[in-house]
Amino acid sequence: MQSKGRHIVNQTEGKAGLLERLEHGPVICAEGYLFELERRGYLQAGAFVPEVVLEHPELVAQLHREFVHAGSDVVEAFTYYAHREKLRIIGREDDLEPLNRQALAIAKGVADETDALFAGDICNTNVFVPEDEATHRQVREMFEEQVGWAVEAGADFVIAETFSWATEAAIALEVVKEAGLPAVVTLAIHQRPETREGWTPEEACKRLDAAGADVVGLNCIRGPSTMLPLLGRIRAELDGHLAALPVPYRTHEEEPTFQSLSDPGYDAFPEGLAFPTGLDPFVCNRYELADFARAASELGVTYLGVCCGAAPHHIRSVAEALGRTPPASRYSADMSKHAFLGTDPQVKKEYREFAKEL
Ligand SMILES: [Zn+2]
Repeated sequence: MQSKGRHIVNQTEGKAGLLERLEHGPVICAEGYLFELERRGYLQAGAFVPEVVLEHPELVAQLHREFVHAGSDVVEAFTYYAHREKLRIIGREDDLEPLNRQALAIAKGVADETDALFAGDICNTNVFVPEDEATHRQVREMFEEQVGWAVEAGADFVIAETFSWATEAAIALEVVKEAGLPAVVTLAIHQRPETREGWTPEEACKRLDAAGADVVGLNCIRGPSTMLPLLGRIRAELDGHLAALPVPYRTHEEEPTFQSLSDPGYDAFPEGLAFPTGLDPFVCNRYELADFARAASELGVTYLGVCCGAAPHHIRSVAEALGRTPPASRYSADMSKHAFLGTDPQVKKEYREFAKEL
């Protein structure tokens, strides 16, 4: 097991590494590539496999750039669901290695263009069964091959994300630490506020922290308002770095996850669910993400981002809420020069007076 605190600086680039940056303030990481590229028409909802990495690499690179422009400190290689089981289910297992290597090369390219960190990514395998030891070996092999490619590509750290089973997350963590890289490990908490083992989020995070994770926390599934209370509970029991990357949807107490959201304004969804392609009416506005970022930061969350559903304007809001001015802030709203709502003396009085009739 690697001790914490190694790999402070990325030796090859001379950039400050993840752990050094965390010592100086929060780190922002944009996630949500699956949903954004699905909306843009280049990725299929359902299997949610990032085939776009091979089919339209330029679009993946551009989205990485947009997120960095908006304030992300991290370029996360788009290898979420690019693991052996997913490639097998869509009949493209032969493309597993080329897809991973290409996703890593694209992310590294954008990180090298900017000051951003370059992260590898592994995730829930959907084959892990706690009582079946054979599946433990299977998921370990899946993680080992992906982490191996990330190491060869020169990743600064590895994100292991969206685990409903904390015990599966622990296997992912072991593999990342064996590879000698810092690990960010985040759990997916469904409607019941616990992991699938029945552990509370705070218990699961403490175990992963004790097992050597550099950052632990929650990502995906829950929106800001139903993730925040869990973060408070984790923070109260965890000393280390805490991550929070909610989905940007208006989840609430009765429907705490984006899969459980029901839309009173529409009842003809093909599968009977707003998730995943009918969630538009629930999208948080940028101000809600800023509120979340401030509240989470006050709680002591040091690794912040937004997951499935995130768009660059959400990330810019998170960055600005933390006092940053990313390049995209040049275009942050200034309504003083609006044709009707503006306060600038050059806005014609006859138009300002019409504002209330718009
Ligand atoms: Zn997500």
